[in-house]
Amino acid sequence: MVKKIGFSRKIRSENREECYVCYRAKKNCLCDSIKPFSTRMRFVILMHAKEDRKQKTGTARLAKMCLTNAELLAGTDFTHNERVNSLLRDPSYNPFVLYPGPEAVNFKTLGSNLLPEGKTLLIFVIDGTWVCAKRLLNKSRNIRALPRLSFSRSYISRFAIKKQPREHCVSTIEAIRYLCEEAEEAGYENLNAQSETLMIVLKKLVDTQIRHQRGRRAGAVWGRDRALVVRS
Ligand SMILES: [Zn+2]
Repeated sequence: MVKKIGFSRKIRSENREECYVCYRAKKNCLCDSIKPFSTRMRFVILMHAKEDRKQKTGTARLAKMCLTNAELLAGTDFTHNERVNSLLRDPSYNPFVLYPGPEAVNFKTLGSNLLPEGKTLLIFVIDGTWVCAKRLLNKSRNIRALPRLSFSRSYISRFAIKKQPREHCVSTIEAIRYLCEEAEEAGYENLNAQSETLMIVLKKLVDTQIRHQRGRRAGAVWGRDRALVVRS
């Protein structure tokens, strides 16, 4: 599909050379900071289509680049998404959606019950603002039907910029990092601090944004990129 781009945007893109891997301006390329690592659990990041259009550089894409065992899908309703449904049909997986709720379980409460008969944990992570994430979950009947996984602790985004969202909101990349940590504490993952790369990349991203937005409306990045996550 050919997409028309406006004159001003065309000029801007000509002046801004982009890295085609991390989608950052070349001078802010984050690729060197990314040290991909494998997790035992498999992540599927469901990015709300609205985020996809607005945010080529959001933390969902960066998280995906850090995780060798992850994939990223964009959409608004995954009920009939072939890839999602084939993963859900695969008997080798034990699927969960990372989303808070009164019924949500966590690594601590589940202990060894998390993985019956050597199955692999399949974690769907919804990327989007609270409103978008909720909408995506409501529409996607297959994802909504999944048991919910949450955290045993509350987290505050480490990289607070002005206009920080509510304290239990963290970005997608942080949510994945915290889940890795809790999985490690429960003995399910053995990452040896490799997941720190998620935070290093995020810190670099935020530092760049702060420099960029100095004097402007700081926090705009976070306004759009906060994701799910509260203690159940
Ligand atoms: Zn790059």
